[in-house]
Amino acid sequence: MAEETLEYDIVIVGAGPAGLCAAIRLAQLSNIQNLKLKICVLEKGNEVGAHILSGAVFEPRALNELFPDWQTQNAPQYTPVTHDEFLFLTLRRGFNFPPPPPLMRNQGNFIISLSQFCRWLAEKAENLGVEIFPGFAAKEILYHENGSVKGIVTGAFGLNKQGLKKPSFQPGIAIHAGFTLLAEGCRGSLSKQICERFKLREGKDPQTYGMGIKEIWEVLPEKHKPGAVLHTIGWPLDHYTYGGSFVYHFNQNLISIGLIVGLDYENPYLDPYEEFQRFKQHPKIRSLLEGGRCISYGARALNEGGWQSIPKLSFPGGLLIGCSAGFLNVAKLKGSHTAMKSGMIAAETVFNALITKDTRELTQYETLLRQSWIGEELHRARNIRPAFKAGLYTGLAYAALDTYLFRGKAPWTFRNKADHTCLKKAALCRRIQYPKPDGKISFDKLTSVQLSNTNHEEDQPIHLVLKDPDVPIKINLPLYDAPEQRYCPAGVYEIVRDATGENPRLQINAQNCVHCKTCDIKDPTQNIEWVPPEGGGGPNYSLM
Ligand SMILES: Cc1cc2nc3c(=O)[nH]c(=O)nc-3n(C[C@H](O)[C@H](O)[C@H](O)COP(=O)(O)OP(=O)(O)OC[C@H]3O[C@@H](n4cnc5c(N)ncnc54)[C@H](O)[C@@H]3O)c2cc1C
Ligand code: SF4
Repeated sequence: MAEETLEYDIVIVGAGPAGLCAAIRLAQLSNIQNLKLKICVLEKGNEVGAHILSGAVFEPRALNELFPDWQTQNAPQYTPVTHDEFLFLTLRRGFNFPPPPPLMRNQGNFIISLSQFCRWLAEKAENLGVEIFPGFAAKEILYHENGSVKGIVTGAFGLNKQGLKKPSFQPGIAIHAGFTLLAEGCRGSLSKQICERFKLREGKDPQTYGMGIKEIWEVLPEKHKPGAVLHTIGWPLDHYTYGGSFVYHFNQNLISIGLIVGLDYENPYLDPYEEFQRFKQHPKIRSLLEGGRCISYGARALNEGGWQSIPKLSFPGGLLIGCSAGFLNVAKLKGSHTAMKSGMIAAETVFNALITKDTRELTQYETLLRQSWIGEELHRARNIRPAFKAGLYTGLAYAALDTYLFRGKAPWTFRNKADHTCLKKAALCRRIQYPKPDGKISFDKLTSVQLSNTNHEEDQPIHLVLKDPDVPIKINLPLYDAPEQRYCPAGVYEIVRDATGENPRLQINAQNCVHCKTCDIKDPTQNIEWVPPEGGGGPNYSLM
């Protein structure tokens, strides 16, 4: 449906840390050699940062390489980490690990808002000549006749629910480029297609994921400790559900608080959002939040598969970078620094190919990446997350052995299993009764969604596509008690019945979707496909 075509040397899909750092590095190299490369970045959020959600404790290693003098360059607010705490929570108490495990120590790191940081990176990129198009989702991949990637097409605007043109209709724009870099973050929709088409996952473990639910609170000044970092494990999650929380005190009495739940959980009655609401009621956490107010809410999936789940990274005409490929170091709960570095390595690889006029597939990117510090840190951490499959205590014991005895060099690699295959039948699991929200510390999903500033044009084709519309009622409801009602952190999926309480059907409130991608990952029959809605739709995060 594209009418207009634009030509670029490089098109980058996604203005997160990976995409923006790739653009900046390319522009830096191009400017040094006076090459005047045409580089563009597409972003589905209505501005850069609008769809970025992270913790975030930031490791500045890649940034130091990209802008050695970044601290003097009007950098967005950052709070140096002053204190690290790691607690094991029980229902009422918290037990300290003194000192925290080495990978959870944050000396020399900073607490930031990643969405603010991306806005700053975008400014830097534009100053170097990069063109950034927020509000435009890349919807389809374009291919040359020889099968290599030719670029992308952005989504059209102005289609109604049935896919028919409204008076406001504007077709998508085709963007042709020598190289296409996919920087869509975790579970990117085009990245998924590319992995399938070019079989990039062949011989690799499936990618595995966690879901992070996060709020920003303004707390009473006497409770705020700028630079304090707290991580917890244990309660409210049971010992076979992987996950943990984070509480980061950043500037202006703000704290970033969240819970991550491994999406390999087994019980279909588990609701990650409700687990987070319970977590906030723990005496150690409630006392921090009391008297404060929640100002922002959001959720996002993150990669947990690590080294063994990284797909082949190149395909004819392009590369996968950042969390599109899965470089998050889950043992550290950090992926921004690896996303940035991967973007920079991709940029250098593409640049060399352009100056040598080499049009072959850029397989050397993968070699360089695996030899870089990304490869080193992901390889060392590769067995820690899968060890928790055997339960919390076994996982902790193995993590200690791996860190202190094997030092990440054990002569084995534990395997990963796809998250959607882990869900057990509802009949085999206990129902979980979650407490009602108190409206002060804990909330219901719809109240929270309002704090994500999510907005979609209502009259547009639904962007949560059911491959088979019968599956939710014929399979998911009887076998798993419709788990989509619970794992979606925005209340998008509801089973509704007629006045007699019969004839269940799945109602999809797509306008509430916060683009976390959990349904695309966790649906037990892989029947839900998340595709980009009209550009600019979705959450509107300012500080996430
Ligand atoms: C709850 C949580 C806590 C975390 N905590 C930390 C932490 O403390 N420290 C840390 O270092 N890391 C942390 N991470 C991980 C970190 O946020 C990611 O590793 C990092 O954001 C990955 O960067 P990226 O550029 O690859 O992807 P993203 O940051 O996800 O950016 C991708 C961008 O691409 C856009 N996009 C996607 N698809 C399209 C499309 N088709 N068309 C146009 N635009 C598109 C998205 O809107 C988004 O802006 C955390 C993650 C989560 C979820
Ligand atoms: S519909 Fe899917 S992507 Fe959207 S918020 Fe719910 S689980 Fe996340």
